[in-house]
Amino acid sequence: MVAFALVFGLMGSLGLLLMKNSLLPTFDSIERRFALDSAKRVVSGFDEQMAAVSALNHDWAFWDELYFHLQRPNKVFERSNIGSAAMLTSNLNAVLLLDRQHQMVGFGARELSGGVMPRAPDMLVPLLRRWAHKPQNPKVTECGLAWLQTKLAAVCWTQVVHSDGSGPAAGTVVMARELDAATLAGIAQNAGAAFTLDPTDGSAADTPHEPTDTWKLPDFHFLAHGDVGVQYSPATITLKYRLEDLEGDPLAWVHMRMERSLMAQAQHVVTDVLFQLAAVALATGLVLLLAVHWWLVRPIARLHADVVALSASRRWDSVLRYDRPDEIGALTQGVNGLLAVLRAQVDTLETLSSTDALTGIANRRLFDERLGLELGRLARRSAPLSLLLLDVDHFKLYNDHYGHPKGDSVLQQLGHLLQTCGRQQDLPARLGGEEFAMLLPDTDAVGARALADKIMKALEALNLEHVRSPTAATLTVSIGVSTWTTVQGSGAELFAQADKALYAAKHSGRMRTCVYGAPDVPRL
Ligand code: GH3
Ligand code: MG
Ligand code: MG
Repeated sequence: MVAFALVFGLMGSLGLLLMKNSLLPTFDSIERRFALDSAKRVVSGFDEQMAAVSALNHDWAFWDELYFHLQRPNKVFERSNIGSAAMLTSNLNAVLLLDRQHQMVGFGARELSGGVMPRAPDMLVPLLRRWAHKPQNPKVTECGLAWLQTKLAAVCWTQVVHSDGSGPAAGTVVMARELDAATLAGIAQNAGAAFTLDPTDGSAADTPHEPTDTWKLPDFHFLAHGDVGVQYSPATITLKYRLEDLEGDPLAWVHMRMERSLMAQAQHVVTDVLFQLAAVALATGLVLLLAVHWWLVRPIARLHADVVALSASRRWDSVLRYDRPDEIGALTQGVNGLLAVLRAQVDTLETLSSTDALTGIANRRLFDERLGLELGRLARRSAPLSLLLLDVDHFKLYNDHYGHPKGDSVLQQLGHLLQTCGRQQDLPARLGGEEFAMLLPDTDAVGARALADKIMKALEALNLEHVRSPTAATLTVSIGVSTWTTVQGSGAELFAQADKALYAAKHSGRMRTCVYGAPDVPRL
């Protein structure tokens, strides 16, 4: 889980880094370029206004009637061309006619917005200042921006020559058109960008804000190239362009404020995409986690639990269930293989640890174990249980005479004999030396004695010569029997009773069977 969280955290951080370093800067530069283009279109709008006045002014400058009027002013020309009706028709607010000596010959005016009439001196001031700095340029129309009273206006002037362009110049025609609210709205509409005109304090150093960046605008026809001051904030880009008058003095600030909607949207989109990516990654992770849990962790945990349960119960004969064709199925089969080996080894060990090496019948360990179990059964079922103890008579003498290997062989034959004489559920065992026992479940004293007789007869039938025996010419055994129909004590007590009976058999001449509880057997 921690590893998953780390992987997702890393993926998220990488995603963020990618978005931050590639996507957002791209959106940012698109927005900046759009803002710069908007600024260009707005400033170009002012330039176009001057171009329109310039075209009209240029026409007048090559007009013979005006040429003659400047030489010899007449009232008819004045009335029909710079009268108020004519001013309205040509959409001009002021026309100023000057003779060759720059003396005013005529002046026509139309109301500015706000009802103010332009005055001739206001038009003359920028012009005269201009001429004071620069020699006249014949036949070329010059334009600039200027305050007409309190209104911003495009002002153009040209020297007047004959219509075929021949001179000398008769004077100068000056025209002014106010950039009224409707004109400014038109500029804004054509540029597709809103702006306001803010007054300046008049000084060249005047700046409305500290720009964080400066963009260079290209040269326009009339407006000198200028810088656009840019200020960025997370929500807006603010642009300022300084409009200058004919002398290069500040007139007003064109102030554009653009909402950074693209960036806002981009950030929105980026956040959305990030969230969606995170959700998809999380869902994928969860599905993977579940799949891994379902297909790997769960079956491995089940296999682990089975193996743990198996080693706790020590039931090596169990077989683990495997129903998968994959590696976990193969692993389970491998465990089953190991179990089979273990089971075989445990069986061998159990056989070895419970078998007498010489005779191949049960040893003392297994005998004691079975005696305990049979006493338990006797307590539950109250079926009689008999114990038979058997000891070879004069076996020392036998060994002495015939040798130890021959003695071993006799012991092996006896073991075999006990196995064949008893029933399926009887347990013959070699307790040690030449002493044997038989545990007889569901057998009363009569049955036990009968079995003892059967053993004696079978041994007699073997006819094993024992020349040194004081008892008989062949090998004989003595047998002691004890029988319980109810549990009277521990296994050791049952054993002691049988031993007592065996002792009695030995003392009363050997080659016989004594039963504990019979008159010839002393009590414990
Ligand atoms: P008794 O009739 O009183 O039982 O006399 P016994 O000689 O049989 O008894 P004793 O206890 O004096 O001797 C037992 C002998 O059994 C001694 C030993 O040589 C012999 N013996 C014990 N274990 C083995 C064995 O594994 N192989 C052989 N060949 N002899 C054994
Ligand atoms: Mg003995
Ligand atoms: Mg003996």
